[in-house]
Amino acid sequence: MALRKIRTLGDPVLEKVAKPITEINDKIKELAYDMLDTMYTANGVGLAAPQVGVLKRIVVIDVSPEGDKPMVLINPEIIAKSGTQTGDEGCLSVPGKAGCVTRPNEVTVRALNLKNQQIEFTGTELLARAVCHELDHLDGIVYVQKVEGELHQVATEE
Ligand code: ZN
Repeated sequence: MALRKIRTLGDPVLEKVAKPITEINDKIKELAYDMLDTMYTANGVGLAAPQVGVLKRIVVIDVSPEGDKPMVLINPEIIAKSGTQTGDEGCLSVPGKAGCVTRPNEVTVRALNLKNQQIEFTGTELLARAVCHELDHLDGIVYVQKVEGELHQVATEE
C-alpha cells in the first residue's frame, strides 16, 4: 500500500467525469487499498479516485467512529433517495474549509465490491452525505459548487 497525493481545488482532474471500471484487476485493488490508506492518513471519511488523479469510478468511504468499517464502491449508482439534510461539509481536496450543503437524508446505493459482487445498501445521515459527496466527485463536481452561502475556515479537516 502506498499513500497517493490528494489533488486540491483548481486541479483540472477534479472537474472531469470518471470512466466506469470494466475489470476489477490487481491494479484496481491496489488503487482501492491506496485510497483507503490515503483517506485514513488524512483523517477523511471518504475519497474518490479523481481526488488522487485517477479518472475511474471508484470511491472509498468509512464513516464509522473507530475508522474500522472501510467500504469500497466500484461503479456506484444512487438508485433511490429521500428526505433532506442541511449541514456542514468538508473535502480533502479543499483543506481547512467547510460549507453548508443540502443533501438527501437517505440514499440507496448499488455498486460492485472488490470481489466483483453487486452490493446494495441504504445509508442515512452522514453515510448518505458521504455517498452523495463522493459520487459527485466521479462526475467532476466538488461540493463548493453546491455550498449555500460562504465557505468558512475550520480548525480540523473533515
Ligand atoms: Zn470531496
